Amino acid sequence: MKFVDEATIEVVAGKGGNGVASFRREKFIPMGGPDGGDGGRGGSILAVADRNINTLIDYRYARLHRAKNGENGRGSDQYGAGAADIVLRMPVGTVIYDAETNQQLFDLDHHGQQVTLAAGGNGGLGNLHFKSSTNRAPRQFTPGREGEQHHLRLELKVLADVGLLGMPNAGKSTLIAKVSNARPKIADYPFTTLHPNLGVVRTSTSHSFVIADIPGLIEGASEGAGLGHQFLRHLSRTRVLLHLLDVYSPDPDIDACAQAVRDAQAITRELERYSPELAAKPRWLILNKMDMVEDAAAIQRRICQELQWSGPVYGISALTGTGTPALMGAIQTWLDEQQQAEHAHDEDPRFVDDKTDPASPDAH
Ligand code: GDP
Ligand code: MG
Repeated sequence: MKFVDEATIEVVAGKGGNGVASFRREKFIPMGGPDGGDGGRGGSILAVADRNINTLIDYRYARLHRAKNGENGRGSDQYGAGAADIVLRMPVGTVIYDAETNQQLFDLDHHGQQVTLAAGGNGGLGNLHFKSSTNRAPRQFTPGREGEQHHLRLELKVLADVGLLGMPNAGKSTLIAKVSNARPKIADYPFTTLHPNLGVVRTSTSHSFVIADIPGLIEGASEGAGLGHQFLRHLSRTRVLLHLLDVYSPDPDIDACAQAVRDAQAITRELERYSPELAAKPRWLILNKMDMVEDAAAIQRRICQELQWSGPVYGISALTGTGTPALMGAIQTWLDEQQQAEHAHDEDPRFVDDKTDPASPDAH
């Protein structure tokens, strides 16, 4: 099982401005010398690794990235202005390949790392550079250089921010499908179709997180497969586990609440056995299939009491979507707060000491 997020993009750097041939013409300088300035540099396309970005989804929608050309030089010793660089923010963990040769070019493995994807062309030289003792009136100038242009493939091993726990039939797949298809824009995103066990939840234009189904693995693990290293890597960033409980039983002879409590305890034991690291993560209790029960509040009280649960608890219906937007919003807020708290000292100038490399963007 390998979840890879991919996008192919085209990066086109700007062309350098041309140098110019021009001569000084002023009233009291009869034989004005060359005064043609250089062209400005074309804009480059840069990539910067940003830990606040989780997926390559934006690059599936914006494929062409083109920087502006540098300005041409002008007379009177005026240099053309350089064009601004374009900075593409990518998730930490993005690997960049040349799409034609498949050669790996960059591996963005730490926050703030910056690489040049396509260098802007240098500006040409104006004729003031060609003045010499034998040629005082040079007419030469050089044109600006073309900017680089590349077809790139971006690849990211998807890391889940949120893990889903629960017995078979608790509604994990239903929940992932519900929340990651909630926005039509995301509907054709490949995970949602290719991998029902993984979804990208977009809560606003600039905020998203990745949710993954862990129990599928635990079910596999019970059969001796174990939690694959491959998959554990996808969970290495997981900050919170949602423990889904089914509060409805179609069989009236079964006490659904008692069953939910037993299931919760069984899953907890299993998780502790297979991954103490995951078991130690913060956990939220999610009571699912609330659309099927009469007294949701009483059920919630009873389950929490029997599990001696004092952590966060949400009642939802993954099927109808009742309660899911509120839950996703709460998760996003919580993830953002966690991230801010974790990295607060990086950005706080009081914590920047002499050992910090001043060239590193982290130090700013
Ligand atoms: P998973 O095994 O945990 O992935 O569970 P699924 O998502 O496959 O759901 C199992 C069954 O429960 C499916 O028939 C779902 O339609 C149903 N189901 C899931 N969530 C809800 C819910 O909130 N309400 C109701 N009524 N049925 C649900
Ligand atoms: Mg499932």
